[in-house]
Amino acid sequence: MEPSESTAAVVVGGGPSGLTAAIALASAGFDTALVARAAPADNRTTALLASSVAALETLQVWAACRDHAAPLAALRIVDATHRLWRAPEALFEATEIGLDAFAWNIENRHLIAALETRASGMPNLRQIREDAAAVESHSDGVIVRTAGGRAIAAKLAVGADGRNSLCRTAAGIEVQSEAYPQIALTYNVSHTRPHRDISTEFHTEHGPFTTVPLPGDRSSIVCVVSPADADDLQSLSGEQLDRELERRSHSILGKIKAEPGCGAFPLVRETARRFAAGRIALIGEAAHRFPPIGAQGLNLGLRDAAVIAEIAADHRDDPGSPEVMDRYDRERRPDVVSRTIAVDLLNRTLLSSLLPIQGIRGIGLHLLNTVGPLRRAVMREGVTPRAGQPRLMRGEALS
Ligand SMILES: Cc1cc2nc3c(=O)[nH]c(=O)nc-3n(C[C@H](O)[C@H](O)[C@H](O)COP(=O)(O)OP(=O)(O)OC[C@H]3O[C@@H](n4cnc5c(N)ncnc54)[C@H](O)[C@@H]3O)c2cc1C
Repeated sequence: MEPSESTAAVVVGGGPSGLTAAIALASAGFDTALVARAAPADNRTTALLASSVAALETLQVWAACRDHAAPLAALRIVDATHRLWRAPEALFEATEIGLDAFAWNIENRHLIAALETRASGMPNLRQIREDAAAVESHSDGVIVRTAGGRAIAAKLAVGADGRNSLCRTAAGIEVQSEAYPQIALTYNVSHTRPHRDISTEFHTEHGPFTTVPLPGDRSSIVCVVSPADADDLQSLSGEQLDRELERRSHSILGKIKAEPGCGAFPLVRETARRFAAGRIALIGEAAHRFPPIGAQGLNLGLRDAAVIAEIAADHRDDPGSPEVMDRYDRERRPDVVSRTIAVDLLNRTLLSSLLPIQGIRGIGLHLLNTVGPLRRAVMREGVTPRAGQPRLMRGEALS
Protein backbone atom coordinates (compact mmCIF):
# COMPACT_ATOMS: atom_id res chain seq x y z
CA MET A 1 0.00 0.00 0.00
CA GLU A 2 1.30 3.47 -0.90
CA PRO A 3 1.76 5.85 2.06
CA SER A 4 -1.32 7.97 2.69
CA GLU A 5 0.44 10.49 4.94
CA SER A 6 3.86 12.04 4.94
CA THR A 7 5.90 13.92 7.50
CA ALA A 8 9.54 14.80 8.15
CA ALA A 9 10.05 12.56 11.19
CA VAL A 10 8.13 9.72 12.78
CA VAL A 11 8.71 8.48 16.32
CA VAL A 12 7.53 4.99 17.30
CA GLY A 13 6.77 4.45 21.01
CA GLY A 14 5.21 6.76 23.57
CA GLY A 15 7.29 6.05 26.68
CA PRO A 16 9.27 8.93 28.18
CA SER A 17 12.10 8.66 25.61
CA GLY A 18 9.76 8.64 22.61
CA LEU A 19 7.60 11.50 23.88
CA THR A 20 10.71 13.58 24.53
CA ALA A 21 12.14 12.85 21.07
CA ALA A 22 8.83 13.76 19.40
CA ILE A 23 8.62 17.04 21.33
CA ALA A 24 12.28 17.83 20.62
CA LEU A 25 11.90 17.18 16.87
CA ALA A 26 8.68 19.22 16.70
CA SER A 27 10.33 22.02 18.69
CA ALA A 28 13.14 22.02 16.11
CA GLY A 29 10.48 22.78 13.48
CA PHE A 30 10.02 19.31 11.94
CA ASP A 31 6.55 18.05 11.12
CA THR A 32 6.52 15.01 13.37
CA ALA A 33 4.23 12.01 13.87
CA LEU A 34 4.22 10.00 17.09
CA VAL A 35 2.93 6.47 16.62
CA ALA A 36 2.07 5.29 20.11
CA ARG A 37 -0.75 4.01 22.21
CA ALA A 38 -0.98 5.52 25.70
CA ALA A 39 2.02 4.33 27.76
CA PRO A 40 1.15 1.41 30.07
CA ALA A 41 0.86 2.01 33.83
CA ASP A 42 4.30 2.32 35.45
CA ASN A 43 4.84 2.70 39.21
CA ARG A 44 8.55 3.46 38.76
CA THR A 45 10.12 6.80 39.47
CA THR A 46 13.02 8.46 37.68
CA ALA A 47 15.82 10.43 39.27
CA LEU A 48 16.34 13.07 36.59
CA LEU A 49 19.85 14.53 36.49
CA ALA A 50 20.31 18.29 36.13
CA SER A 51 21.01 17.97 32.40
CA SER A 52 17.73 16.09 31.87
CA VAL A 53 15.87 18.74 33.88
CA ALA A 54 17.51 21.43 31.71
CA ALA A 55 16.30 19.66 28.53
CA LEU A 56 12.77 19.34 29.91
CA GLU A 57 12.88 23.02 30.87
CA THR A 58 13.98 23.99 27.35
CA LEU A 59 11.18 21.85 25.90
CA GLN A 60 8.64 23.55 28.22
CA VAL A 61 7.81 20.36 30.10
CA TRP A 62 9.51 20.88 33.45
CA ALA A 63 7.03 23.48 34.82
CA ALA A 64 4.38 20.73 34.97
CA CYS A 65 6.84 18.33 36.69
CA ARG A 66 8.40 20.59 39.30
CA ASP A 67 5.79 20.18 42.07
CA HIS A 68 5.90 16.39 41.68
CA ALA A 69 9.69 16.10 41.96
CA ALA A 70 11.89 15.87 45.07
CA PRO A 71 15.55 16.92 45.11
CA LEU A 72 18.27 14.37 45.85
CA ALA A 73 20.67 16.49 47.86
CA ALA A 74 22.79 13.60 49.11
CA LEU A 75 23.46 9.96 48.29
CA ARG A 76 24.42 7.51 51.01
CA ILE A 77 25.86 4.04 50.36
CA VAL A 78 25.69 1.51 53.17
CA ASP A 79 27.31 -1.91 52.94
CA ALA A 80 24.56 -4.15 54.31
CA THR A 81 26.24 -7.41 53.31
CA HIS A 82 27.29 -9.92 55.93
CA ARG A 83 30.70 -10.42 54.37
CA LEU A 84 34.16 -10.35 55.87
CA TRP A 85 35.22 -7.36 53.77
CA ARG A 86 32.62 -4.66 54.29
CA ALA A 87 32.96 -1.23 52.74
CA PRO A 88 32.73 1.86 54.94
CA GLU A 89 29.55 3.95 54.73
CA ALA A 90 29.90 6.69 52.11
CA LEU A 91 27.99 9.97 51.86
CA PHE A 92 28.08 12.14 48.74
CA GLU A 93 26.67 15.65 49.04
CA ALA A 94 25.68 17.69 45.98
CA THR A 95 26.85 20.95 47.59
CA GLU A 96 30.41 19.58 47.44
CA ILE A 97 30.33 20.03 43.65
CA GLY A 98 28.36 23.27 43.77
CA LEU A 99 24.91 21.82 43.11
CA ASP A 100 21.71 22.03 45.16
CA ALA A 101 20.82 18.47 44.12
CA PHE A 102 22.27 15.60 42.10
CA ALA A 103 18.87 14.87 40.60
CA TRP A 104 15.12 15.30 41.01
CA ASN A 105 13.03 12.20 41.57
CA ILE A 106 9.60 12.07 39.95
CA GLU A 107 7.03 9.33 39.46
CA ASN A 108 7.01 8.22 35.83
CA ARG A 109 3.22 8.73 35.65
CA HIS A 110 3.67 12.45 36.40
CA LEU A 111 6.58 12.77 33.96
CA ILE A 112 4.63 11.04 31.20
CA ALA A 113 1.50 13.14 31.89
CA ALA A 114 3.57 16.35 31.60
CA LEU A 115 5.16 15.14 28.34
CA GLU A 116 1.78 14.14 26.90
CA THR A 117 0.25 17.52 27.76
CA ARG A 118 3.11 19.32 26.03
CA ALA A 119 2.96 16.99 23.00
CA SER A 120 -0.80 17.57 22.59
CA GLY A 121 -0.24 21.34 22.48
CA MET A 122 2.24 21.30 19.57
CA PRO A 123 0.57 22.01 16.19
CA ASN A 124 3.31 20.27 14.16
CA LEU A 125 3.22 17.10 16.29
CA ARG A 126 0.56 14.60 15.20
CA GLN A 127 -0.26 11.78 17.60
CA ILE A 128 -1.37 8.50 16.05
CA ARG A 129 -2.64 6.36 18.90
CA GLU A 130 -1.89 2.98 17.38
CA ASP A 131 0.92 0.45 17.42
CA ALA A 132 3.37 0.34 14.55
CA ALA A 133 2.96 -2.98 12.72
CA ALA A 134 5.85 -2.65 10.26
CA VAL A 135 8.69 -0.27 9.49
CA GLU A 136 10.40 -0.19 6.09
CA SER A 137 13.59 1.75 5.54
CA HIS A 138 14.50 2.74 1.95
CA SER A 139 17.33 4.85 0.59
CA ASP A 140 15.10 7.93 0.17
CA GLY A 141 12.71 7.53 3.09
CA VAL A 142 11.05 5.32 5.64
CA ILE A 143 7.47 4.04 5.89
CA VAL A 144 5.77 3.19 9.17
CA ARG A 145 2.65 1.04 8.82
CA THR A 146 0.28 1.05 11.77
CA ALA A 147 -1.84 -1.76 13.18
CA GLY A 148 -4.93 0.17 12.01
CA GLY A 149 -3.74 0.21 8.39
CA ARG A 150 -2.25 3.69 8.07
CA ALA A 151 1.03 4.19 6.20
CA ILE A 152 3.18 7.18 7.13
CA ALA A 153 6.14 8.20 4.99
CA ALA A 154 9.01 10.13 6.59
CA LYS A 155 12.66 10.97 6.13
CA LEU A 156 13.64 9.81 9.62
CA ALA A 157 12.20 7.17 11.97
CA VAL A 158 13.11 7.21 15.65
CA GLY A 159 12.64 3.83 17.33
CA ALA A 160 11.62 4.48 20.94
CA ASP A 161 9.64 1.27 21.19
CA GLY A 162 11.41 -0.24 24.16
CA ARG A 163 12.92 -3.60 24.91
CA ASN A 164 11.32 -5.69 22.12
CA SER A 165 11.79 -2.95 19.56
CA LEU A 166 10.11 -3.54 16.21
CA CYS A 167 12.19 -0.68 14.79
CA ARG A 168 15.41 -2.39 15.88
CA THR A 169 14.39 -5.60 14.11
CA ALA A 170 13.29 -3.64 11.03
CA ALA A 171 16.69 -1.93 10.93
CA GLY A 172 18.41 -5.34 11.13
CA ILE A 173 20.25 -4.34 14.30
CA GLU A 174 21.23 -7.10 16.70
CA VAL A 175 21.62 -6.74 20.44
CA GLN A 176 24.28 -8.00 22.76
CA SER A 177 22.51 -9.10 25.91
CA GLU A 178 23.08 -10.88 29.17
CA ALA A 179 20.61 -11.65 31.95
CA TYR A 180 21.54 -11.22 35.63
CA PRO A 181 20.15 -13.53 38.34
CA GLN A 182 18.29 -10.56 39.82
CA ILE A 183 14.87 -8.92 39.77
CA ALA A 184 14.13 -5.30 40.66
CA LEU A 185 10.91 -4.79 42.62
CA THR A 186 9.55 -1.26 42.79
CA TYR A 187 7.35 0.23 45.51
CA ASN A 188 6.20 3.70 46.45
CA VAL A 189 5.76 4.24 50.17
CA SER A 190 4.92 6.83 52.79
CA HIS A 191 6.87 6.90 56.04
CA THR A 192 6.91 8.45 59.50
CA ARG A 193 10.46 9.89 59.45
CA PRO A 194 11.58 12.54 56.95
CA HIS A 195 14.01 11.46 54.21
CA ARG A 196 15.86 14.81 54.41
CA ASP A 197 16.36 14.69 50.61
CA ILE A 198 18.83 11.81 51.04
CA SER A 199 18.73 8.73 48.83
CA THR A 200 20.15 5.67 50.58
CA GLU A 201 21.49 2.59 48.84
CA PHE A 202 21.90 -0.49 51.07
CA HIS A 203 24.20 -2.91 49.28
CA THR A 204 23.22 -6.53 49.91
CA GLU A 205 24.58 -9.82 48.55
CA HIS A 206 21.89 -9.86 45.84
CA GLY A 207 21.95 -6.20 44.83
CA PRO A 208 21.05 -2.78 46.19
CA PHE A 209 17.98 -1.84 48.20
CA THR A 210 17.51 1.84 47.44
CA THR A 211 15.22 4.47 48.90
CA VAL A 212 14.75 7.60 46.80
CA PRO A 213 12.95 10.72 48.10
CA LEU A 214 9.60 11.85 46.69
CA PRO A 215 7.85 15.09 47.74
CA GLY A 216 6.63 15.06 51.36
CA ASP A 217 7.15 12.03 53.58
CA ARG A 218 7.14 9.64 50.62
CA SER A 219 9.87 7.68 48.87
CA SER A 220 10.24 5.21 46.06
CA ILE A 221 12.01 1.94 46.75
CA VAL A 222 13.92 -0.19 44.28
CA CYS A 223 14.70 -3.55 45.79
CA VAL A 224 17.06 -5.74 43.74
CA VAL A 225 16.81 -9.36 44.88
CA SER A 226 17.21 -12.96 43.73
CA PRO A 227 14.23 -14.49 41.89
CA ALA A 228 13.36 -16.64 44.95
CA ASP A 229 13.45 -13.63 47.26
CA ALA A 230 11.32 -11.71 44.74
CA ASP A 231 8.66 -14.43 44.93
CA ASP A 232 8.67 -14.24 48.74
CA LEU A 233 8.42 -10.45 48.77
CA GLN A 234 5.65 -10.41 46.18
CA SER A 235 3.61 -12.82 48.26
CA LEU A 236 3.51 -10.26 51.10
CA SER A 237 0.87 -7.58 51.42
CA GLY A 238 -0.51 -5.14 53.97
CA GLU A 239 1.30 -4.95 57.29
CA GLN A 240 3.60 -7.86 56.50
CA LEU A 241 4.97 -6.05 53.47
CA ASP A 242 5.22 -2.75 55.39
CA ARG A 243 7.24 -4.44 58.15
CA GLU A 244 9.54 -6.20 55.67
CA LEU A 245 10.29 -2.98 53.78
CA GLU A 246 10.98 -1.24 57.09
CA ARG A 247 13.35 -4.05 58.09
CA ARG A 248 15.23 -3.88 54.79
CA SER A 249 15.52 -0.10 55.08
CA HIS A 250 16.95 -0.49 58.60
CA SER A 251 14.09 1.76 59.86
CA ILE A 252 15.85 4.91 58.61
CA LEU A 253 12.48 6.15 57.35
CA GLY A 254 10.58 5.02 60.46
CA LYS A 255 7.32 3.11 59.93
CA ILE A 256 6.62 2.39 56.28
CA LYS A 257 3.27 2.10 54.49
CA ALA A 258 3.46 0.68 50.99
CA GLU A 259 1.09 2.14 48.42
CA PRO A 260 -0.82 -0.23 46.10
CA GLY A 261 1.19 -1.58 43.16
CA CYS A 262 4.55 -3.29 42.77
CA GLY A 263 6.59 -3.42 39.55
CA ALA A 264 8.88 -6.39 38.80
CA PHE A 265 11.76 -6.04 36.31
CA PRO A 266 14.18 -8.90 35.57
CA LEU A 267 17.64 -7.34 35.23
CA VAL A 268 19.48 -7.49 31.94
CA ARG A 269 22.31 -5.76 30.21
CA GLU A 270 21.45 -5.15 26.59
CA THR A 271 23.17 -2.92 24.04
CA ALA A 272 22.26 -2.58 20.38
CA ARG A 273 25.26 -3.29 18.15
CA ARG A 274 24.50 -0.09 16.24
CA PHE A 275 22.27 2.77 17.36
CA ALA A 276 21.14 3.56 13.82
CA ALA A 277 20.87 1.81 10.46
CA GLY A 278 19.17 2.81 7.24
CA ARG A 279 16.89 5.69 8.26
CA ILE A 280 16.05 4.29 11.69
CA ALA A 281 17.71 5.67 14.84
CA LEU A 282 17.19 3.84 18.15
CA ILE A 283 16.76 5.66 21.45
CA GLY A 284 16.05 4.71 25.07
CA GLU A 285 15.48 1.07 25.93
CA ALA A 286 15.28 0.14 22.24
CA ALA A 287 19.03 0.89 22.22
CA HIS A 288 20.22 0.06 25.75
CA ARG A 289 19.15 -1.47 29.05
CA PHE A 290 21.07 -2.13 32.25
CA PRO A 291 20.41 -2.55 35.98
CA PRO A 292 18.80 0.39 37.81
CA ILE A 293 21.95 1.39 39.70
CA GLY A 294 23.11 5.01 39.70
CA ALA A 295 19.93 6.39 38.02
CA GLN A 296 21.31 6.40 34.49
CA GLY A 297 18.83 4.55 32.21
CA LEU A 298 16.25 7.16 31.28
CA ASN A 299 18.75 9.97 31.62
CA LEU A 300 20.60 8.28 28.76
CA GLY A 301 17.30 7.91 26.88
CA LEU A 302 16.62 11.63 27.20
CA ARG A 303 20.16 12.38 26.02
CA ASP A 304 19.55 10.13 22.98
CA ALA A 305 16.37 12.11 22.24
CA ALA A 306 18.15 15.46 22.58
CA VAL A 307 21.06 14.33 20.38
CA ILE A 308 19.01 12.87 17.50
CA ALA A 309 16.85 16.03 17.39
CA GLU A 310 19.96 18.24 17.40
CA ILE A 311 21.70 16.31 14.60
CA ALA A 312 18.49 16.24 12.54
CA ALA A 313 18.20 20.02 13.02
CA ASP A 314 21.73 20.38 11.62
CA HIS A 315 20.61 18.48 8.47
CA ARG A 316 17.24 20.04 7.73
CA ASP A 317 17.22 19.00 4.06
CA ASP A 318 17.33 15.33 4.97
CA PRO A 319 17.08 14.57 8.71
CA GLY A 320 17.44 10.82 8.06
CA SER A 321 20.48 10.96 5.78
CA PRO A 322 23.44 8.57 6.26
CA GLU A 323 25.45 11.50 7.75
CA VAL A 324 22.80 11.95 10.46
CA MET A 325 22.75 8.25 11.25
CA ASP A 326 26.53 7.88 11.39
CA ARG A 327 26.95 10.95 13.58
CA TYR A 328 24.18 9.79 15.94
CA ASP A 329 25.78 6.37 16.37
CA ARG A 330 29.23 7.93 16.87
CA GLU A 331 28.05 10.48 19.43
CA ARG A 332 25.89 8.21 21.56
CA ARG A 333 27.85 4.96 21.66
CA PRO A 334 30.77 5.96 23.96
CA ASP A 335 28.44 7.51 26.58
CA VAL A 336 26.11 4.49 26.64
CA VAL A 337 28.86 1.86 26.52
CA SER A 338 30.95 3.46 29.29
CA ARG A 339 27.93 3.74 31.61
CA THR A 340 26.82 0.19 30.83
CA ILE A 341 30.29 -1.10 31.74
CA ALA A 342 30.42 0.96 34.96
CA VAL A 343 26.99 -0.23 36.14
CA ASP A 344 27.78 -3.82 35.15
CA LEU A 345 31.04 -3.79 37.14
CA LEU A 346 29.40 -2.27 40.20
CA ASN A 347 26.63 -4.84 40.07
CA ARG A 348 29.10 -7.71 39.67
CA THR A 349 31.20 -6.62 42.64
CA LEU A 350 28.02 -6.85 44.73
CA LEU A 351 27.15 -10.31 43.45
CA SER A 352 30.65 -11.73 43.65
CA SER A 353 31.42 -14.02 46.55
CA LEU A 354 35.16 -13.73 45.84
CA LEU A 355 37.02 -12.09 48.71
CA PRO A 356 39.49 -10.12 46.51
CA ILE A 357 36.63 -8.57 44.55
CA GLN A 358 34.81 -7.60 47.72
CA GLY A 359 38.09 -6.14 48.92
CA ILE A 360 38.49 -4.06 45.77
CA ARG A 361 34.95 -2.72 46.18
CA GLY A 362 35.67 -1.84 49.80
CA ILE A 363 38.92 -0.10 48.89
CA GLY A 364 37.18 1.78 46.08
CA LEU A 365 34.52 3.11 48.41
CA HIS A 366 37.14 3.91 51.04
CA LEU A 367 39.10 5.95 48.45
CA LEU A 368 35.96 7.77 47.38
CA ASN A 369 35.24 8.54 51.02
CA THR A 370 38.65 9.89 51.85
CA VAL A 371 40.12 11.34 48.64
CA GLY A 372 38.20 14.57 47.99
CA PRO A 373 39.32 15.27 44.39
CA LEU A 374 38.55 11.68 43.33
CA ARG A 375 35.13 11.81 45.03
CA ARG A 376 34.27 15.12 43.36
CA ALA A 377 35.44 13.88 39.93
CA VAL A 378 33.25 10.76 40.24
CA MET A 379 30.28 12.83 41.40
CA ARG A 380 30.70 15.27 38.49
CA GLU A 381 30.99 12.45 35.95
CA GLY A 382 27.82 10.87 37.40
CA VAL A 383 25.73 14.00 36.85
CA THR A 384 27.52 15.72 33.96
CA PRO A 385 29.47 13.48 31.60
CA ARG A 386 32.77 14.71 30.20
CA ALA A 387 31.37 14.11 26.73
CA GLY A 388 29.76 17.36 25.54
CA GLN A 389 26.13 17.92 26.40
CA PRO A 390 23.59 18.34 23.58
CA ARG A 391 22.20 21.85 23.09
CA LEU A 392 18.81 21.10 24.70
CA MET A 393 20.64 20.02 27.86
CA ARG A 394 22.58 23.28 27.86
CA GLY A 395 19.28 25.16 27.79
CA GLU A 396 19.48 26.10 24.09
CA ALA A 397 16.38 25.69 21.91
CA LEU A 398 16.76 23.93 18.54
CA SER A 399 14.62 26.22 16.39
C1 LIG B 1 13.40 -0.51 38.62
C2 LIG B 1 13.88 0.53 37.66
C3 LIG B 1 14.20 1.80 38.13
C4 LIG B 1 14.70 2.78 37.26
N1 LIG B 1 15.06 4.00 37.76
C5 LIG B 1 15.62 4.91 36.92
C6 LIG B 1 16.08 6.18 37.41
O1 LIG B 1 15.99 6.51 38.60
N2 LIG B 1 16.66 7.05 36.52
C7 LIG B 1 16.79 6.74 35.20
O2 LIG B 1 17.32 7.54 34.44
N3 LIG B 1 16.33 5.56 34.71
C8 LIG B 1 15.76 4.64 35.53
N4 LIG B 1 15.32 3.44 35.04
C9 LIG B 1 15.34 3.21 33.59
C10 LIG B 1 14.08 3.80 32.96
O3 LIG B 1 12.93 3.42 33.67
C11 LIG B 1 13.98 3.36 31.52
O4 LIG B 1 15.18 3.71 30.87
C12 LIG B 1 12.83 4.06 30.81
O5 LIG B 1 11.60 3.75 31.40
C13 LIG B 1 12.81 3.64 29.36
O6 LIG B 1 11.93 4.49 28.67
P1 LIG B 1 11.69 4.26 27.13
O7 LIG B 1 10.75 5.34 26.70
O8 LIG B 1 12.98 4.12 26.41
O9 LIG B 1 10.99 2.82 27.02
P2 LIG B 1 9.56 2.36 27.51
O10 LIG B 1 9.13 3.13 28.70
O11 LIG B 1 9.61 0.88 27.58
O12 LIG B 1 8.61 2.81 26.32
C14 LIG B 1 8.50 2.10 25.13
C15 LIG B 1 7.09 2.36 24.61
O13 LIG B 1 6.98 1.85 23.29
C16 LIG B 1 5.72 1.24 23.14
N5 LIG B 1 5.78 0.31 22.01
C17 LIG B 1 6.37 -0.92 21.97
N6 LIG B 1 6.21 -1.46 20.76
C18 LIG B 1 5.50 -0.56 20.01
C19 LIG B 1 5.01 -0.55 18.68
N7 LIG B 1 5.20 -1.59 17.84
N8 LIG B 1 4.34 0.54 18.25
C20 LIG B 1 4.13 1.62 19.07
N9 LIG B 1 4.57 1.64 20.35
C21 LIG B 1 5.25 0.57 20.80
C22 LIG B 1 5.45 0.59 24.48
O14 LIG B 1 4.07 0.38 24.67
C23 LIG B 1 6.00 1.67 25.43
O15 LIG B 1 5.01 2.62 25.77
C24 LIG B 1 14.84 2.47 35.89
C25 LIG B 1 14.51 1.19 35.42
C26 LIG B 1 14.04 0.23 36.28
C27 LIG B 1 13.73 -1.16 35.76
